[in-house]
Amino acid sequence: MAVRQTWDVLLTITTTARPATDLGFLLHKHPGRVQEFGQSFGTATVFYPEAEEERCTAALLLEVDPIALVRSRGKSSPDFSLSQYVNDRPYAASSLLAVALADVFRTARAGRCNARPALPGTPLPLELRLPALPCRGGPELAARLFEPLGWEVDAQAVPLDEGFPEWGDSRYVGLTLRGTARLADALNHLYVLLPVLDDGKHYWIAPDEVDKLIRAGAGWLSGHPERGLITRRYLGRRWALARTALARLAELGDETEEQLEPAVEEDAPADEAAAAEAEAAEAEAQGDASQEEAAQEAAPKAKPLNLRRREAVLAKLEELGAVSVIDLGCGQGELVGALLARPRFARVGGMDVSSMALTIAARKLRLERMPDSKRARLTLFQGALTYTDKRLSGYDAAVLMEVIEHVDPPRLTALERVVFGRARPQHVLVTTPNVEHNVRYEFLTGLRHPDHRFEWTRAEFAAWATRVAGEYGYQVAFEPVGDDDPEVGPPTQMGVFTRDQRS
Ligand code: SAH
Repeated sequence: MAVRQTWDVLLTITTTARPATDLGFLLHKHPGRVQEFGQSFGTATVFYPEAEEERCTAALLLEVDPIALVRSRGKSSPDFSLSQYVNDRPYAASSLLAVALADVFRTARAGRCNARPALPGTPLPLELRLPALPCRGGPELAARLFEPLGWEVDAQAVPLDEGFPEWGDSRYVGLTLRGTARLADALNHLYVLLPVLDDGKHYWIAPDEVDKLIRAGAGWLSGHPERGLITRRYLGRRWALARTALARLAELGDETEEQLEPAVEEDAPADEAAAAEAEAAEAEAQGDASQEEAAQEAAPKAKPLNLRRREAVLAKLEELGAVSVIDLGCGQGELVGALLARPRFARVGGMDVSSMALTIAARKLRLERMPDSKRARLTLFQGALTYTDKRLSGYDAAVLMEVIEHVDPPRLTALERVVFGRARPQHVLVTTPNVEHNVRYEFLTGLRHPDHRFEWTRAEFAAWATRVAGEYGYQVAFEPVGDDDPEVGPPTQMGVFTRDQRS
């Protein structure tokens, strides 16, 4: 049977966590009902092919109506951005699925569930299936994108025609992902990676696409080995936007300079490279954003802020003569790695509340293969900064690099007590964004990171730090990190706390 160039796309989500029917609460869709959600380009239907205590499957079926899709092309239409999909029929389908998924499962994607508040934070055994998914780059690309996120990937190319295997494979892949993950994370992985897989040509991209990408990628994209490819494809190969997004990901603590290079993807099939070239030529012919991009190309590349932050913290720790250091909220372990690379730091601790961050940290630090002498200097563990913990004591210095702004303001006093009151290291280095500097970021609407609970001005940070120092017997001094803008100050501010001799 020939594969129909279908306009229907199906996604199923199965869990075996008991009671499996809790999936209905998580998705905010009743397992007993069939529900339709009108989209400007067709209809999304949610139903449950099975809903038992031990196994429950939710299905999202998207039927794209080509006429509605074309009608939604007008410039004034809120879906103007969808016009980009019209010429790319087979490839558009999974991008449209991502759009529908974001709409239909909005609350689940945000990780909220009033009926079962603990559920969204709980990793569940999940199986996600997409029986026919347009995928430029084939099954290998699907594996490269999903495996680093902890998914077991089963991707099979769908033959063009089962009766004529010699015709080769179609551009469809049957994809099954199995793993244990929070449902919100799984939905966000799909939301970002489905359009990346189909790689539709995007002629027009709204500036808030960068924000959407950063938001949906929170907690996993900055550490993804393919983040460069993901960002470029997601943003329709607009290098200027991709560079902005990568720079913002860098702010989140995980970026290298090479990733900023617009490169044709390795292993890209020849037709893909040709398509990229054709697209570049086309953009040039139209004289559109490529000029701006060319200007950016020529500008000297600034050192990423996360690197400058790390260097500033390391230099300060050396200046203070710290020999043992603990990184609180160590994230994916960049600072821990840099500390271990310097033998003067005899003992290094790393703590984070997120097990996913620690798993990535362990991989990046190559913990498995680390020589014993180095391994012996390191203690990496999970913990929360708002609970007293003996393991935080006994270090010369503690670092809280871009961490306090992730803590709810009412919980900050607990953090202060744990770090300054109980652990009481000789020195504490705290870095946090200077919100005054945000006006210098192009395309930034709102705070720098979706998980930030606040961002402070220099005066607000100084007031907090001075109060904490006074309360717990420390002195505090302030230093800029990054270029100190005469008007709005540096992008990052650092407080250097030193314990009073007598206390
Ligand atoms: N310090 C790293 C990571 C910053 S991102 C860097 O600069 O690159 C903030 C980190 O703080 C995240 O990894 C998050 O999991 C962690 N975090 C947030 N709240 C925390 C808490 N209460 N206890 C411990 N870690 C926390």
